[in-house]
Amino acid sequence: MTQARRRVAIVGFGPRGLGALEALVRQALVTGTSVAIDVFDPSRWPGAGPSFSPDESEICLLNLPLRSISLPPPPPCSWVQQDFSTWLKDRLQDGAQDGDAYLPRALLGTYLHERYEALLAQLPEAVSVEHHQARVNAAHQDQTGWRLQCAGHSHGPYEHVLMSLGQPQTDPDPQLERWRKHAHRHGLQLCAAYPGHALIEAADAWAGRIVGIRGLALSSLDVIRMLTLGLGGRFEGTRYIASGREPARIIPFSLDGQPPAPKPLNAALDARFDPLPDEDAAFEAALHAALSGAADAGPSALFGALGAAVARVIHSVGGAVEQDAIQDWLQQEVAAAGSQEQLATSEALRCGIRQAEGQDLPTIGYTVGQLWRKWQPLLRRVYDSRPIPPNTARAFTAFDEGLKRYSYGAPIETARQLLTLIETGLVDPRAADDPDIRLRPEGWEIQAEDTAVIADVMIDSVLPPPALGQVTEPLVSGLLETRVLSALDDGLGARCGSDAVLVRADGTPVQGLGLAGRLSNGSSIASDSIHDCFGDIGDRWAATVLQPT
Ligand SMILES: Cc1cc2nc3c(=O)[nH]c(=O)nc-3n(C[C@H](O)[C@H](O)[C@H](O)COP(=O)(O)OP(=O)(O)OC[C@H]3O[C@@H](n4cnc5c(N)ncnc54)[C@H](O)[C@@H]3O)c2cc1C
Repeated sequence: MTQARRRVAIVGFGPRGLGALEALVRQALVTGTSVAIDVFDPSRWPGAGPSFSPDESEICLLNLPLRSISLPPPPPCSWVQQDFSTWLKDRLQDGAQDGDAYLPRALLGTYLHERYEALLAQLPEAVSVEHHQARVNAAHQDQTGWRLQCAGHSHGPYEHVLMSLGQPQTDPDPQLERWRKHAHRHGLQLCAAYPGHALIEAADAWAGRIVGIRGLALSSLDVIRMLTLGLGGRFEGTRYIASGREPARIIPFSLDGQPPAPKPLNAALDARFDPLPDEDAAFEAALHAALSGAADAGPSALFGALGAAVARVIHSVGGAVEQDAIQDWLQQEVAAAGSQEQLATSEALRCGIRQAEGQDLPTIGYTVGQLWRKWQPLLRRVYDSRPIPPNTARAFTAFDEGLKRYSYGAPIETARQLLTLIETGLVDPRAADDPDIRLRPEGWEIQAEDTAVIADVMIDSVLPPPALGQVTEPLVSGLLETRVLSALDDGLGARCGSDAVLVRADGTPVQGLGLAGRLSNGSSIASDSIHDCFGDIGDRWAATVLQPT
């Protein structure tokens, strides 16, 4: 007897949607299931997502060197697709094989989009895929399955739907809301950092003006490159050669004025931070113990394993550090992330660069951050595979988020460029550490040391937090209203199982509806990485979707 064809939808088709599709195709092949898959995304570039959009400015770089991008297609699909570096080899002549290079994000997006097209071109007979270039506004369930609402069209029913929406539209935080009204009232420019090409276009009219940037994380570094390199400037060694189209001054600021630390300069320096096999084992055992124990276990359960590895790394490069000092640093990180960092912005940048170049011994913070980066895959594997109590989720995600200033570090070249721009005076970090900002009809008056300066343009480079309660995207808010979707806790993402299937507040699974990625923060961890998009959650979701009926 032939089995009925299964119908499945993926809503939101960035890299994570692609990862889920590949996992589903593989599962269909393995189980011999016939399946029709609809994917929904308004983007012209299915598979790439907005962060890696092929039409994004080349100024926007990946935060990973080529050598650490490993995206092998899943085995049954691998005959039609190449991994990123093989694809690059065919595509680019020079520089493509420099493993230490940080390539444009658009290049990775082009690869992902082509990987999707290659899969489409050679789908197994039993599998069909259709892309609907549309936004899904609502989902509801009836006896036949899930139905999806796009403008003017209804689709479905589907047995299973996965939402992989990235960071959808969100309510502005109170400061941004106030600033938007202020900008509107006085005809001021308050711009988003992305898409980068739109920002560069707008910036062409800002020569000689003062531009503020809210945020000092990786996006802020992108913005500073857009306002300099993007306007025709160039770097020659440690000099910046202006084009004359730049703003007169760029004033970035954040709540603590700390720039992201650059990643180690090259593979050899990076390898200094590789955990040893017994350190991996100790970290994994501590992680299992922390996550299967008390309901409010926090990351401090990992500090024995983490501290031992930090001390070993620092000793191995000729430094000396007491275990007490490491434990104090870690405890302080839990109490108030980043409160240990006392250096002013440019000094912090300088120190970060010297550590990344191997000229200075790594500090405790730098070493913790690099080890945490190396342990991200292990952290995901253990954390994402089980239900996490809300208190534990809050503590772990906060710790992971805080350490991003090291673990999601900047390309060293970008950090050096920022330092050069500070030294030339084009970027002014004097107000970087949580300045007082008054709203004036002419702009934003930013207090910098003993003087105040008015920025007449403001750029927002702060990514909204992945808190479900603040999302205004109609699909999400509709499901929240009907309580199909519920937050794991205040400030966290959706309550989901390890296979991405949603779980109601009373603990019952939502038959046939899943959510993966940033909006599941807390149920999963460390999702803001391209590697996570092609990880285990997609495989588990595909296994649930195509289990025999
Ligand atoms: C500025 C920036 C730079 C980054 N740089 C890096 C980097 O260098 N390296 C790295 O590893 N990670 C980086 N990240 C993290 C990166 O976003 C993730 O690695 C990855 O893009 C997540 O993929 P995703 O598919 O979950 O989400 P996204 O890529 O955001 O894709 C979500 C998709 O869902 C669609 N969508 C949303 N709502 C709907 C709806 N209602 N109906 C239909 N479709 C919908 C959107 O159109 C979008 O295409 C960066 C993130 C940002 C914001």
